[in-house]
Amino acid sequence: MEPEFDAIVVGSGMSGGWAAKELTERGLKTLVIERGRHIEHGADYTDFDAPWELPYLNRIPEDEQSLYPFASQATKHFRMKAGDHPYSVPEDRPFRWFRGYHLGGRSLMWARQSYRMSDIDFEANKKDGYGVDWPIRYQDIAPWYDHVERFAGISGQAEGLEQLPDGVFQPAMELNCLEEEMKKRLEVAYPTRKLTIGRCAHITEATEEQLDLGRGNCQYRSYCSRGCSFGSYFSSLSATLPAARLTENLTIVTDAIGHSVIYDPETNRATGVRIIDSNTKEGRIYTGRVVFLCASAIGSAQIMLNSMSDAFPTGIANSSDMVGRNLMDHVSGMGAGGSFDGFEDMYYSGRRPNGFYIPRYRNVTEDAPDFVRGYGFQGGCQRGSWERGRGMAGIGADFKHALRTPSGWSVWLSGFGEMLPNPDNRVTLHPTKTDQWGMAQVHIDCTLGENDKKLARQANLDAVAMLEAAGFKNVSARGEEPFAPGSAIHEMGTVRMGHDPKTSVLNKYNQAHDVPNLFVTDGACMTSTACQNPSLTYMAMSARAAHHAAEFLKAGTI
Ligand SMILES: Cc1cc2nc3c(=O)[nH]c(=O)nc-3n(C[C@H](O)[C@H](O)[C@H](O)COP(=O)(O)OP(=O)(O)OC[C@H]3O[C@@H](n4cnc5c(N)ncnc54)[C@H](O)[C@@H]3O)c2cc1C
Ligand code: SF4
Repeated sequence: MEPEFDAIVVGSGMSGGWAAKELTERGLKTLVIERGRHIEHGADYTDFDAPWELPYLNRIPEDEQSLYPFASQATKHFRMKAGDHPYSVPEDRPFRWFRGYHLGGRSLMWARQSYRMSDIDFEANKKDGYGVDWPIRYQDIAPWYDHVERFAGISGQAEGLEQLPDGVFQPAMELNCLEEEMKKRLEVAYPTRKLTIGRCAHITEATEEQLDLGRGNCQYRSYCSRGCSFGSYFSSLSATLPAARLTENLTIVTDAIGHSVIYDPETNRATGVRIIDSNTKEGRIYTGRVVFLCASAIGSAQIMLNSMSDAFPTGIANSSDMVGRNLMDHVSGMGAGGSFDGFEDMYYSGRRPNGFYIPRYRNVTEDAPDFVRGYGFQGGCQRGSWERGRGMAGIGADFKHALRTPSGWSVWLSGFGEMLPNPDNRVTLHPTKTDQWGMAQVHIDCTLGENDKKLARQANLDAVAMLEAAGFKNVSARGEEPFAPGSAIHEMGTVRMGHDPKTSVLNKYNQAHDVPNLFVTDGACMTSTACQNPSLTYMAMSARAAHHAAEFLKAGTI
């Protein structure tokens, strides 16, 4: 029997959206399977809700706070209710798994920082011996970075840095007056460090292609976490899925939980995906000629581990026993803050949805005392707006009047460090616990290693020293210990790429070594983390893999 679809993509987030766009644009009838509910671009956002329309001054009532941690009234619609999708961890090794189960996934929720990896990152494993060698180098992915940046719209400033390659940028957002001053002082005190405006997936000069998709320039409102009706920041809903729809080759099914990939041992091919309808709990099978797993690093590993057969008793394409292993996140929780005396007569217009970035310098332009790899810092300088009044006691005209004057200047610096791969940091299926649909729960056992902790300690010292050198007062580090893994929301590595089928799951095209028509293009594929925010790399990987999959299908090799 002929398969129903040419391609099946599981997951509609950052990587699934890209896979769908590129596959459909190459003429392939593509099904996107999404476990979460449908979200309508624009209509289901809250960016036009006025402050007085949001109950409780936009805060979550105390009795609901544990159900929607870190949410507000305006962002609750993108949050899963705690407890609905359980997973387990060892008692002494917490892992924060922050998900977005809805059409568009976390592409609707991200902070949009977009940085390329460099050859320093792609060569690191080979050079220092941690993990396996990446099967690609920067030149393999550079054209795909160009491709995704041009379409997504990335604003940023070219800096000519070896460790942070420049891209196809739309006009950069501006540093404010204190950030300009900080940059001057920092670069005098530390000549090999650089402060640049963040590179972010916001349109600042819309192209014809972006306008045709109904996207426009960013309005500097900073309501992005509510969804953006202008389509100014990149998401699956504003950009890739609409482009895929235009081809008329796209079918999307929501409320469909990918359960497992179906495997035919006679042809050694994946033949489809088994799903569970999240509303009715009924099972269904969709068939396709090629399968892309884009359910996020832990989600894709879960589906693969769940795809057991005689040929693959521990999960599809798992002859290496590497599926689920080498789980990584960025080391986070480091940084510092402080205040600044001066510039009291200066302010900035709008609410720029972006900060500044200090790219990695450790083990690039400056040695590190006792660790390999490095970290970069995101940060920002700002004055407190009237909204600080929400947390203050007060009432009446005097109170309101006081809030008309912004408070003094402050700064924050937040480090993101590279975490080393370790096969013992692992996702498995829980032997007994299941979720409400009867699927084995994910068990996550992951902890930071010695190198990760040393790097975090130095990042704190550096953050404090940089702020003091730049003239900030009341400077203090963020905390003694880094956050638990998962906190950076950059989980990756569970289905890694590599040259050798014995030690890795995917080849240089994100294609399973064991099953040639199975591709995994989300963060699971990452062989190392680098320290840059990773989503731009997932986008480029997804587009590149879709291109190759279409070529292989055409050539009849898969
Ligand atoms: C608050 C926040 C800020 C962030 N900031 C940044 C940033 O500035 N820069 C950056 O690079 N990254 C950032 N990230 C991380 C970024 O969102 C992720 O790296 C990215 O979304 C991962 O893409 P993905 O396609 O792997 O997963 P997702 O975007 O999470 O998409 C996965 C999709 O698969 C679906 N799914 C899962 N399991 C199944 C299943 N079994 N069956 C069917 N569907 C399934 C999910 O519902 C989801 O829609 C941030 C994330 C958050 C939450
Ligand atoms: S700041 Fe820009 S991207 Fe964010 S909600 Fe406003 S217009 Fe959209």
